[in-house]
Amino acid sequence: MQFKDLKAQYLALKPDIDQAIQSVLNSSAFILGKPVAELEEQLASYAQRRHCVTCASGSDALLLALMALDIGPGDAVFVPDFTYVATAGAASLLGAAVILVDIDPRTFNLSPEALESAIQRVLREGRLQPKAVIPVDLFGLPADYPRLLPLAEKYGLAIIEDGAQGFGGRIRQRPACSFGELSITSFFPAKPLGCYGDGGAIFVNDSELDQRLRSLRAHGRSPFDKYDCLETGINSRLDTLQAAVLVPKLRAFVSSELDAVDAIARQYSQRLGEAVVTPRIPDGYRSSWAQYTIALRNQAERDRVRAVLADHQIPTMIYYPKGLHQQKAFQHPSDWPDALFPHTVTASQTVLSLPIHPYMQEKDAAEVADIIVESLSRED
Ligand SMILES: *Cc1c(COP(=O)(O)O)cnc(C)c1O
Repeated sequence: MQFKDLKAQYLALKPDIDQAIQSVLNSSAFILGKPVAELEEQLASYAQRRHCVTCASGSDALLLALMALDIGPGDAVFVPDFTYVATAGAASLLGAAVILVDIDPRTFNLSPEALESAIQRVLREGRLQPKAVIPVDLFGLPADYPRLLPLAEKYGLAIIEDGAQGFGGRIRQRPACSFGELSITSFFPAKPLGCYGDGGAIFVNDSELDQRLRSLRAHGRSPFDKYDCLETGINSRLDTLQAAVLVPKLRAFVSSELDAVDAIARQYSQRLGEAVVTPRIPDGYRSSWAQYTIALRNQAERDRVRAVLADHQIPTMIYYPKGLHQQKAFQHPSDWPDALFPHTVTASQTVLSLPIHPYMQEKDAAEVADIIVESLSRED
């Protein structure tokens, strides 16, 4: 069994993907060729945004989004503690202060209450200007935007939605990557919509930000004169080859993969039922199931279940074994106490992500679930 079966997906879509790659080779337009503009238009339309700017990775998308908002030294950027390091790295690189925030224990997403306390703490201390918050659509579930949007407005913060894992999710009729001033996603191969290398995109409604992002991804050059540089930018574009691969993959993603992966998740949740804590999808929300992550009662139980699954050749992952506050790069000068992040600490000790992808068979999910239930009943 594979944790993510990228090969099965390639074989299912092979004629379209091979043809897309061949046509780029024939055109030899390897940088910003026609498929890039075509993909950007389709992605913007899917995410209900006016503009989509592709770039070289999800991490670069975050960097470009923060650069476009002029985030830098003296600014506070709020980031959930329980996420992949990339969410926090860009703000750090730009010299801003990363303020870590605990999560909601049931959805694992940024806690609005903890965010408000963190903002008030920064305001009380008076050294930093609260500028932006980067909610993460963790494991495919959109963050709590119905509560985060008014909170951000109350304190004048920009929201940058980290939809690297969330593309394809929804809150009622609103798709992931439509929330806040800017949204980003990643096309790393194992993400819900992946390419065959690195890739990313930024989504925005504001046309000036769109123009600025297009300039920043090409060294800050003027839109009218390639050899006239307006500001310091970076070199971060999505290869034409990757864009060409993504066009048929986006079609499959929308027409069948999201439903297929949802069926696997439902199978897991039915079978695992009461035995473990299954993912909580709030009313009206839809997850794109970047991960199917359960929680066990404690670390020892989690590690035992993981070992039993490994004995059956079933791969699992721990996303994430540590909060950002426990990692050297993001340590506060005066140290972040674990007590500020109780839900991250518990999650890091108890979560386990199971194999899930759109080409998985329901009977395989049933087998994984049955092994877990069996191994837990033996311990009781
Ligand atoms: C993967 C990921 C990123 C970074 O994307 P890359 O394309 O790998 O640079 C950022 N944020 C989150 C939450 C991610 O999971």
